[in-house]
Amino acid sequence: MAAMARPLPPDFPIRSQLLARLYDEQRRAGWIAPGFADAIARELRLPVAEVWEAATSYADFRSAPLIGDEVRCAGLSCQLARGAFAEMPSEASHCLFRCYDAPATGGEEPFPAPMVRQAGPLLAPDITNTDRLNAARRLGRDAALNAVAESGLRGRGGAYFPVGTKWRAALEERRPIALVVNAEEGEPGVFKDRALLSLAPRRVVEGIAIAAFILEPAVIVVFANGQADPAVRSLEEALDIAEPQLDVAIVRGGGGYVLGEESALLNALEGRRPVPRTKPPYPVQSGLFGMPTVVNNIETFANLSVHFGDVPGFRTRGTPETPGTKILSVSGRVRLPGAYEVPLGVSLRKVVEQSGPAVAGEVAVLAGGPSGGFLSAGHLDVPLQPGILHATGAMLGAGGIVVLDAPGDIRDAALAMARFNAEESCGKCTPCREGTPRLYDLLAAGDVDGIDGLAEVIQFGSLCGLGQMAPGPVRSALHFWPGVFA
Ligand code: SF4
Repeated sequence: MAAMARPLPPDFPIRSQLLARLYDEQRRAGWIAPGFADAIARELRLPVAEVWEAATSYADFRSAPLIGDEVRCAGLSCQLARGAFAEMPSEASHCLFRCYDAPATGGEEPFPAPMVRQAGPLLAPDITNTDRLNAARRLGRDAALNAVAESGLRGRGGAYFPVGTKWRAALEERRPIALVVNAEEGEPGVFKDRALLSLAPRRVVEGIAIAAFILEPAVIVVFANGQADPAVRSLEEALDIAEPQLDVAIVRGGGGYVLGEESALLNALEGRRPVPRTKPPYPVQSGLFGMPTVVNNIETFANLSVHFGDVPGFRTRGTPETPGTKILSVSGRVRLPGAYEVPLGVSLRKVVEQSGPAVAGEVAVLAGGPSGGFLSAGHLDVPLQPGILHATGAMLGAGGIVVLDAPGDIRDAALAMARFNAEESCGKCTPCREGTPRLYDLLAAGDVDGIDGLAEVIQFGSLCGLGQMAPGPVRSALHFWPGVFA
């Protein structure tokens, strides 16, 4: 069996070993005991308070042993499948990332191929050659970078920042670059990176190789979700047979929605508490241990492989501003949950209809997960493209689509999102730390008059996207279905 983790370079500061040591201990013992924290603090020459500060920031690390041996998923689609939004016990997981198999219990599994409901170039059968890497090599570094920029490829992690612009900014620093491959995928309801890694790992690895050819990074690190063993094993197998070989470290995480913010992820890699950094400087200027750092998502790397193999084909899908496809993770009240690879710009209604809604009332959608918002049946004709889909909060984000029954599911679903955001707030800034639990309390009590003002404070006073977008599900639910909170 593959090791599923590969160490960071030995010349990295010793504190960078902290996350790996915590992860190993959690896997071995099932929790982080005080004696272990003391020992690891001595070994890594850190104050023990810093060890606890990091250890207690990850959702999957426990400071007490787990009681019982079954972990149940508390994600929205699993709660819908159970037919109850009861308070979940402490051993519940925020998401087991098997929303296509709701209600999920236990651990992760390799993504099942039949759950690819619609495949495009990303989810097509995996590649067996290195034609696309060879195409980049034939162009040379500068021309290959120009090709990335001119293709119009945008990152697929949720922010859709132009890839060529990000890479140029890092290269302009004229210092050794760190390349970080984001396979953390910690948003409840999203499983598309797991699908890619399970079914097309060589496409992902070729994308990493193309990036490595252009950026010539001093270090390549894959930050992989701590639960995603089958997907990571598949990646390791693809790395093992890659030609030429890539020197890649694999670091496993401990969960946490805030790790979707790239500077929080870099802090985690450095063995610090995983909280977002104040910007500027941006990671491309000063990221992992001060190196110019490029962070891109798994799906972005897979797109690189597609793009270099078929530039005209890449641009014929999607829109002129956002070419290509997007893998959606569709779940909830549908007969055909799973991964749908669609051209950017396709209407949400078409996706919902393909997935076979199974609702008693009207269809509603949660788009963009806990940072997104709800859409009513009358607003499903929006094209799925980067940015806001509706002013109250719905957005494409990482491509999580949960189909709901309206109005029956709306109150519980909005409360579930509000509670999730409150629990996942890292606590660094006051509007988010104090505001998100208050938002949940007001909604739960039906005391909606003060919500708009509070939502504005959270949105505009928070440091990172988690706080800034947290009011979306609440605001959109109140906008479309005010009666359900009376
Ligand atoms: S907005 Fe929330 S999650 Fe983001 S830094 Fe502030 S407290 Fe942390």
